[in-house]
Amino acid sequence: MFWQLISRQLAPGGSNGKLSIFIFHRVLPVPDPLLPFEPSAEEFDWMVRFISRTFTVLPLGEAASRLKAGTLPPAAATITFDDGYADNLLVAWPILKRYGVPATFFIATAFLGGGRMWNDDVIEAFRLSRKDELDLSEFDLGIHQLTDTTSRLNGYESVLGKLKYFEHRLRSEISREIACRCEVPAVAELMMTHPQLRLLHSEGAEIGGHTRTHPILERLDDAAAKKEIESGKQELETLIGTAVRVLAYPNGVPGRDCSARHAEMARQAGFDAAVSTRQACATSTSDIFQLPRFTPWDRTPLRFAMRSMMNLYRVS
Ligand SMILES: [Zn+2]
Repeated sequence: MFWQLISRQLAPGGSNGKLSIFIFHRVLPVPDPLLPFEPSAEEFDWMVRFISRTFTVLPLGEAASRLKAGTLPPAAATITFDDGYADNLLVAWPILKRYGVPATFFIATAFLGGGRMWNDDVIEAFRLSRKDELDLSEFDLGIHQLTDTTSRLNGYESVLGKLKYFEHRLRSEISREIACRCEVPAVAELMMTHPQLRLLHSEGAEIGGHTRTHPILERLDDAAAKKEIESGKQELETLIGTAVRVLAYPNGVPGRDCSARHAEMARQAGFDAAVSTRQACATSTSDIFQLPRFTPWDRTPLRFAMRSMMNLYRVS
């Protein structure tokens, strides 16, 4: 009740409306020390309880059109997920359903069909390697000590920070090679299968585009970027049999990963709205094709609530 009063004061709705767009990637069945930034089911449960009691949660398509029309409810929010992990359906969705809140899932279509993304190959390599040191200098990815959880975590973060800017095919090949050297087993069904995506959609989840191969759009020429945005949309529409109206730019830092050029491509491709990863809340003056997103990183309910309120002061 207390947080609801505060949020309604800071985000009164209507033409003064503010939209808080929360961003998630995975929700883990149990905590994983190597993935400290991904909430566990238990943590996600109290996060959704707080969000559902404090905000009026809308799917992104509806929230964006009401933002534009100046008809947002007080304390409006949207819950989004990027990439298409199976745990979105298996772990997060039952929790969202329990609290009766909608959510929007952005899917990179090339990774659908089970299996895992290139970044998970690298994470699992750093987790499972039995050596004390992982020498990736031949790929210009450094030499990493693997003495404890912290060094493994720092190691894969440093590698992913560079590798995500590599071209898609090269990125996949290097990731697979790293996994192979560390004897990471081939089987790992981390991403949604096609039937799982269709099930999520049929249960009422909003599905959004996230390109095909998750490239850093700013690194592509215009023709290639346009193709990634459009083909991801078309593949999803074929899969779920419904128009896909919202988009999330991969990685999504404006100016570094995507720009106004891609916002224009999104508009031309037939999207109604798109989200970046700039940290703020959206207002009526926000570019509807570059909406900001933010989720507090805190792992205690009080701090999570406070930082969610602080975000309402960061208007775009
Ligand atoms: Zn992504």
